[in-house]
Amino acid sequence: MFCYQCEQTAKGTGCTKTGVCGKNEDIASLQDALIIGLKGVAAYAYHAGELEQRSEEIDSFLHEALFTTLTNVNFDLNSHIEKLLKCGEINLKAMELLDKAYVDRFGFPEPTRVFTGFKPGHAILVTGHDLLDLYELLKQTAGKDINVYTHGEMLPAHAYPEINKFTHLVGNYGSAWQNQRKEFEDFPGAILGTTNCVLLPRDSYKDRFFTCGIARLPEVKHVENRNFEEVIEKARSLEPLPEKEGGFLSTGFHHKAVLSMAEKLIEAVKSGKIRHFFLVGGCDGSKSSRSYFTEFVKKVPADCVVLTLGCGKYRFNYMELGEIDGIPRLLDMGQCNNAYSAIQVAAALAKAFKCDINDLPLTLVISWFEQKAVSILLTLLHLGVKNIRIGPSLPAFLSDNVLAVIQQNYNLKVISTPEEDLREILE
Ligand code: SF4
Repeated sequence: MFCYQCEQTAKGTGCTKTGVCGKNEDIASLQDALIIGLKGVAAYAYHAGELEQRSEEIDSFLHEALFTTLTNVNFDLNSHIEKLLKCGEINLKAMELLDKAYVDRFGFPEPTRVFTGFKPGHAILVTGHDLLDLYELLKQTAGKDINVYTHGEMLPAHAYPEINKFTHLVGNYGSAWQNQRKEFEDFPGAILGTTNCVLLPRDSYKDRFFTCGIARLPEVKHVENRNFEEVIEKARSLEPLPEKEGGFLSTGFHHKAVLSMAEKLIEAVKSGKIRHFFLVGGCDGSKSSRSYFTEFVKKVPADCVVLTLGCGKYRFNYMELGEIDGIPRLLDMGQCNNAYSAIQVAAALAKAFKCDINDLPLTLVISWFEQKAVSILLTLLHLGVKNIRIGPSLPAFLSDNVLAVIQQNYNLKVISTPEEDLREILE
């Protein structure tokens, strides 16, 4: 970053010339957090906009908040903190808008089992987040003897009735974004990347990889206007996939589906059959320390329920955790934007138990990696949610002072070991 005031190149993302222009490390840190949070808001608002759901309030906040990060326009610490929490509030509205956009167009998600093997035949794999891209591709491939598979964050698409009605949407292949190079190399069909979390491709599959919408990669063909003809032609020209056995993954526990079990849930908590709820999920990444989340879910006691979302779920969503009185112990609520669903469930439980969200037997254990995770964290802080555990590390763009304020007010903690954290939470 270049500072136009002191004409120095600031180290990292914040100015190191404290006092020269009145800007300091903490303001730089808050501005960085705001810019990163705004990117997450923009992503959700963009997807909703593609489905003709727009909000003047969200758009004008994006403009105003970005403007406040301009050089020498705002040196006031408190107003930066306010803006950051406002970003969390606006992100909640963006996630709500996106939920409405998807539900209006594709119906309410329903709990769904998704096949993880291969069906014989030509195939297209779709990765990213944009459900409209997947829907348009399904329409264009209908009756053409091509099977469509989801990858990564597209898994929850199977739960939407208007998407799941396509019988050639046959399963989910692969896992989180960081594994895609190996997984795409091993997938013999055509591949479509719809949004963020696409990686630079290997030569081995570059010629059968396509992007559309916001996603772009060098030397990879980009599809314009959702005309997937070339992707379909490519799938046809490739060897058909052989049959491969697979298991099943569950998804589709949107808040409407979870709240349809509200009576059962409340009764199970009151009778002591459910001791605690954990929301474990978020953005995955490649650090080996992220095995924490696998171990954590493995060690969650049998009288606890795990809610999940985002691609962090692939760390454990293959596990069979069973049920408590007919309530599945592992509930996949969907993509990261379905944090909105998790918030709705928490709010409904708090209402039923006549308590504050922080008094519920609920703990959030969030894996964070990129911008959307930051915007969701800001939403949780805006809602006053405390005792969140985050990992595998704390965001490096938070200065010591900013971090101290967050920790003091919200008791935000970095994860330690699954045993230690579980012991502390359940005590
Ligand atoms: S959950 Fe986060 S890291 Fe994972 S695919 Fe979505 S945006 Fe990317």
